[in-house]
Amino acid sequence: MNLHVVLGVMPCDGKNGKRPRVELLINNGVEAKLFLMRKIIPQGVIFFIYWLTYVLHMLILSMEKIILTDVDGVLLNWEYAFVTWMEEHGYKMIENGNFIYNIKKRFNLESNNKGHKLIRQFNESATIGYLPALRDSQHYVKLLGNLGYKFHVITSLSKNPNAQRLRTKNLEKLFGNVFEKFIYLDTGADKDVVLEQYRDTGLLWVEDKPANAEAGINMGLQAVVMEHAFNLHYEGVAPFVKNWADIYTLVTGNPVDINTDNAVSLV
Ligand SMILES: [Mg+2]
Repeated sequence: MNLHVVLGVMPCDGKNGKRPRVELLINNGVEAKLFLMRKIIPQGVIFFIYWLTYVLHMLILSMEKIILTDVDGVLLNWEYAFVTWMEEHGYKMIENGNFIYNIKKRFNLESNNKGHKLIRQFNESATIGYLPALRDSQHYVKLLGNLGYKFHVITSLSKNPNAQRLRTKNLEKLFGNVFEKFIYLDTGADKDVVLEQYRDTGLLWVEDKPANAEAGINMGLQAVVMEHAFNLHYEGVAPFVKNWADIYTLVTGNPVDINTDNAVSLV
């Protein structure tokens, strides 16, 4: 990780007597070591070591049994809980509103900003700790966990640490000890920057927002879109899955027998 920082520091050598901003962000101890390294190790060697570390990191990630997953609309039924919460707060969804992704249009609100505020309020409420599992997710995520798969969660919930703690508890209660990493972003934030760290690993990336799935595909991930009424219009390159039985089959190559597996009836 330190080597990663070296690359950021090297092009910023203090010209005109000014200290580069990146350097100022690094604590003094690390900074001192980096300057020392730069003095005694040729620049080309440091670049090579950085490149080698990056390649090895990607290789290890791609060899591990890791599944990258969104939460809302993938692991948890955020939509159901949010609509219920909105009704409790006096907002009514328009007819066939479940086909509409945009909250302003779905609830006939005065502005997108109002919609975003309500989503943030909901995501930071106590309710967020008690969302139900989506469809058959509990059953198949546990089965995949039993096969040694670990899940990295990437969710645009909120920057509020209490909301994040509630979500982590919610997930661990429903799915058990299958999570290796929880990555929390601000409410509704894009995921491109976070996905960068998985670039070219070919890992499975499960999303319900087509734009996020496509961002993953552009970075060399195997993205799929969890099907909902509000994303049915999507006609891009990421394939749809209807449930976690589909994902289980995709990952293991084993088809699910709907006659013997009760979990499918939960779909
Ligand atoms: Mg989602």
